[in-house]
Amino acid sequence: MKVAVVSAAALPSTTQRARHARERRRADPDFAQRQRTAVQRYYRARRLKVFDLLGGRRCVRCGCTVVRLLEVNHKNGGGTREIQALGGGEWIRAILNGKRGTSDLEVVCKVCNVVHYVERRFPELKDQFTVVWRGAR
Ligand SMILES: [Zn+2]
Repeated sequence: MKVAVVSAAALPSTTQRARHARERRRADPDFAQRQRTAVQRYYRARRLKVFDLLGGRRCVRCGCTVVRLLEVNHKNGGGTREIQALGGGEWIRAILNGKRGTSDLEVVCKVCNVVHYVERRFPELKDQFTVVWRGAR
């Protein structure tokens, strides 16, 4: 078997590859669209992996299963601060590679996440809201 040996010096550098990709995107709109689609697919798959890691693609409070409505909730608050400090990509990477624990995280729908926020912000309103998920139509 013949093996091609390529020295590291012969490989394009990261910046050369980035420049090449930028030029190709400019010259070929189909390539640009394919690349956008691939990136979207990658991020959607990562998001689903996080939900699966946290117990499933379902709101732990109301049972909603509409994936586009699901979010990761910080049970003790502080989610926005943490994600802004780390950057969303790093935060998700830390969850997926086990560097960040998940005991303070849960999957909730946007509606339940708002209720959670309101109850933390206005403790006198705790248990005053009930979210009812009636299922997908
Ligand atoms: Zn919910």
